[in-house]
This record gives sequence, structure tokens and C-alpha cells, in this order.
Amino acid sequence: MITLLTNIKELLQVRETSVAKVSGAEMAVLPTIKDAYLILENHLIADFGEMKNLPEIKADQIIDATGRIVLPSWCDSHTHIVYAGNREQEFVDRINGLSYEEIANRGGGILNSALKLNAASEEEIYEQSKRRLEEVMHLGTGAVEIKSGYGLTTEGEIKMLRVIKKLAENYPISIKATFLGAHAFPLHYKENKAGYIDEIITKMLPEIAKNKLADYIDVFCETGYFSVEETEKIMAAGIQYGLIPKIHVNQFNSIGGIQAGIHFKALSVDHLEVMNPEDIEALKGTQTMPVALPSCSYFLSIPYTPAREMIKAGLPLALATDFNPGSTPSGNMNFVVATACIKMKMTPEEAINAATINGAYAMGLSETHGSITKGKKANFILTKPISSYYQIPYAFGSNLIESVFLEGKILA
Ligand SMILES: [Zn+2]
Repeated sequence: MITLLTNIKELLQVRETSVAKVSGAEMAVLPTIKDAYLILENHLIADFGEMKNLPEIKADQIIDATGRIVLPSWCDSHTHIVYAGNREQEFVDRINGLSYEEIANRGGGILNSALKLNAASEEEIYEQSKRRLEEVMHLGTGAVEIKSGYGLTTEGEIKMLRVIKKLAENYPISIKATFLGAHAFPLHYKENKAGYIDEIITKMLPEIAKNKLADYIDVFCETGYFSVEETEKIMAAGIQYGLIPKIHVNQFNSIGGIQAGIHFKALSVDHLEVMNPEDIEALKGTQTMPVALPSCSYFLSIPYTPAREMIKAGLPLALATDFNPGSTPSGNMNFVVATACIKMKMTPEEAINAATINGAYAMGLSETHGSITKGKKANFILTKPISSYYQIPYAFGSNLIESVFLEGKILA
């Protein structure tokens, strides 16, 4: 099956040879081709170039993309899409003056989601989660990482990871699974934190590894959650079972989690709303991708990741949604890109790089996703007719997507 797109107004994020990630000043460069063609063969990108160089080919399907822009699908490297119920009551409580931490301290927050998750059947959780996955696919996401972390029991965590596996089997979107048993301490372990960490290490991890249910291991390293020492212990155990760390750090406090993540060769360190100069310094020259979650900052009214300082320091940056019921009930990467431009002062080029190639890196997918490159997956967005790609962040409340291609096929 050969599909040809002709007369593309502008083809974005064109990389002749694949790059793993872009950092610092490189992030301001978004390679594009104006008046372009794109050829797909089955599920892969076969060729692209300027219309004037269009080769003679026999295509099974021709799509005239006049006035429209094509860009790689969004790569959302940090989500909690699998959950049960919602936390809309806490949303209203926060409007009425309670802080996220105050809500958590009175049994709300993650523990509230854990109660709902453990009360729901695997089928119910799957049914609820698949609707969210379908929604983000239609919003242009072509690869997504999904975390466990609302079970906080061996059974609950395994149940979540099985749901993630089933979603990966049933949908054309690429999915990476992360084990986040260390999301919070469950109530019955409140006075025995070491006991819960022991359950993670001796019960959950062996079971998860045996059934190949996760690619990554995550820990919420934060004051009141998991200390740096506890985070290190859990990362080390995860590595023993073949899981690569990707961790939550520096959301509310800078306590040394970034340095710990780097030490354990974390693929990414995520959140980073509170960054000290030492944190930025520590990330220089490492293989660890910093990931910002601006929709979370927006929803909680907390500081935004200091993107300008980090890019100025030569660091790469990825953008992700953090889609979850408590702090970011939205999986819209278009909004993330717009918010990064509006609130973090990233340029459209930087934000698109952060949400495509750097997002792919943060999921270990840069060889197959994140850019328009021959041999990569034919996962991309075809916009409605728009004046330029600046519209994507500028018209922040509009849906500019005409169609989404996943594995070379239009998503119905
Ligand atoms: Zn998160």
C-alpha cells in the first residue's frame, strides 16, 4: 500500500538522518520543506521532498494537502492515562482554597485514586482508559508512555500494568509502560514505609519482570513522598530487573532527586518546576532528558519549568502532558505546546522539537518516532488549512487537526 501526500504547504521536523535528541541552541531549529510531498509505504515513511522533485510513482491513494501542514505525531513521554473514576471534587476543593498538599494530607490525592482503582475491575479500568487513549490519539499523539501507580498494592499495580499491555496490543499507537509503585505510601503502610518499599522490591518487581509488564521504573521523589535515599534504593532494584529509571523530581522541592536520577542513568527526569542552578549544572552533558509538564503547572497554578534557563545552559527539553486525574486531567499535547510557548517562553520551533523528537527520546523511541525520516513510522498530523505552523501554539484553544495518521493509516 503506497500513499502519496502532495502539495503540502510545509512539512515539519524533516530529518534526513535521524537524530536522537536536540539540545540547547539546536532546539530553535526546526528543519522544514515548503511545498512538499510525502510518500508512505505500508506503515513507514518511504520518501519526501519538494514537489518539483516528485518522482513518478504508482500510488494506491493520493491526498492533496494544499494549504495544510504535516508534522510528526506528538510523543507524550509522561502520562497516567490508566486510572479509575476522577477527582473533580478535589478540583472544586482547590478552587475553594485548599492546596494540593493539604488535599493529599487528608486522604485525597493519589490515595483517593488508589481507592477507586482497587475497587474497579480490570475490565472497567480498561474501558475507562481506552476512551482517554482514543481521545489523545485523535489529538495527534502517536506514541505515549503510561504509568501504573494508583494500585499501591501488588495486585493493583499488576492490574494497571496489564491494562496498559492490553491497550498496547489493541491500538496502533506505540505505548511504553512504566511501573510507578513508588507513587505514594498506601495508608496501611503509613507507619511502616520500609515495609512498603520492601513489598515493591520483593513482591511487585519480580512479578512485573517475570511477566514483562514494564519498560521503566518511576518514583515520586518529593518531600512527603519518597526521599532521595528511598528513590535510589527503588531505582537500583528496578535496574536489577531490567527496568530503566524515569522519575518524578523537583515538582515542589529540590531535594537532590535529579542528581540521584543522573547517577542511576535515568532516561528522563520529569516535572522540574523548582530548579536550582546546581540542578541545571548537574544535567549538563548527561544522557538524561529533562521533561517539563506545563499543563500540570497550569492546572495547579504552580511555577513552570524554567525552560529558558535550561535551554540557555545547553540542555535538551521534552514536553509531555502528565495526563492524570489529580493534577492534569488533560492529554492534549497541542495545549502543552501552546502553553510552553505562552508561559515558558519557548519558541514554536523549540516547543515542537520538545514535543516530538525529544519526547521520542524520553521513551527510547527516537529511532522510530519523532521526526519525518525515511524508515520511521508513518505517524503524523495533517492540519486543517492554516497560515503557518505558528498557528499551532497561537490558536491555543482551537483544534487545527484535520486528520491523524498512525502506522500509515488515517485514524477514523
Ligand atoms: Zn506524573
